[in-house]
Amino acid sequence: MAGKVFFRLRISWKKLAAAAAVVLAAAAGTMICLRYRAKTFATVRFHMDTFISYYVGSVLPERTVDAMDKAVEDCEDLFDRFSADSEISRVNANAGTMTEVSEETYLLVEDAIKLAAETGGYFDPTVGKISDIWGFGIDPHVPEKEEIAAALQYVGFGRVMLEEKNGQYYVCVGEGQSLDLGGIAKGYALRKVREAAEKAGCRFAVVSFGGNVLLVGAGHDGNDGFSVGIRTPEENITDPALIISLEGGVVSTSGGYERFFMEDGVRYCHIIDPFTGNCAGGDLLSVSVICDDPVRADCLSTAYFVKGLDSTLDALASGEFSGIAIDSDKVIYISEDLAGSVAPEGTADGYRIEVVG
Ligand code: ADP
Ligand code: MG
Repeated sequence: MAGKVFFRLRISWKKLAAAAAVVLAAAAGTMICLRYRAKTFATVRFHMDTFISYYVGSVLPERTVDAMDKAVEDCEDLFDRFSADSEISRVNANAGTMTEVSEETYLLVEDAIKLAAETGGYFDPTVGKISDIWGFGIDPHVPEKEEIAAALQYVGFGRVMLEEKNGQYYVCVGEGQSLDLGGIAKGYALRKVREAAEKAGCRFAVVSFGGNVLLVGAGHDGNDGFSVGIRTPEENITDPALIISLEGGVVSTSGGYERFFMEDGVRYCHIIDPFTGNCAGGDLLSVSVICDDPVRADCLSTAYFVKGLDSTLDALASGEFSGIAIDSDKVIYISEDLAGSVAPEGTADGYRIEVVG
């Protein structure tokens, strides 16, 4: 009896092994087919007052884009300071007291505070009161000097408190303070977009979200790597200033050429110097930061744009970050590590490249 069972079992194992081999072969075949059947899909959506474009290669690319876009929508609901229902609006409305928030919001504010400290306060998410008096997003205008001075007292990331207790998360900004996560929220959304893309088994994706370009996978359209154009920092010029080849990561660009208003012939952009309360911008027209973390890239590009040309060139020279800075003399400064990555297509008319390092 035992022998019979043993015999039967041996037969079963053999069958099982054969079946497993067939299944594995079929799975491998399917994987190969799936690789070849991957299709591309491109579309543009609108979130956080900004267009977001997707170019995705995957077996079901429309579905992959929907999953990626849902991740952005979720962030938008949490971080939109112009929507009274968002978590950030609740934190601002309750300034001076602890407000319970989701883990997501807690982690983003925590990242923002860390990066504010790292950039010496040039990136500061508590510029909200200053953004308000300049009317960005609603009614842009130059405020009175006294208004700026009054609002400046509410800037200071050191007054933001975070608390985690029994699995619950709390954020508190100082009395009168207002969080503005506009300089980090898109980077955070792209972090979530990448997670969604990877979860969906996406082969490659290029996602461009208001100056932040996320690259997922090993390269687009079967290429090794990606070609990314850095915008010429002038209005109405759509030709890139230069094109670089990258293997992945994110490129985040901050500049004053896209979101700005003019008053009495002067251009005022949406990036604020947290120390003066004035709009940033001078000789430095744009700065692009290249790294793996979209949140970091977003914050650093904003911070260096505020710091200005000299500090940015010092940072590029010392290898503090990998990136590109373009100045008003049409010089494109690139960090040494990128020197071999500039595409031969050439630069925009009148622009020249200088390697820093
Ligand atoms: P964009 O949002 O156009 O990609 P940035 O990433 O540079 O550009 O972020 C600019 C936004 O960040 C502003 O619209 C504002 O919401 C916020 N902001 C402005 N100045 C600062 C600053 N010094 N530190 C942190 N956030 C800022
Ligand atoms: Mg930024």
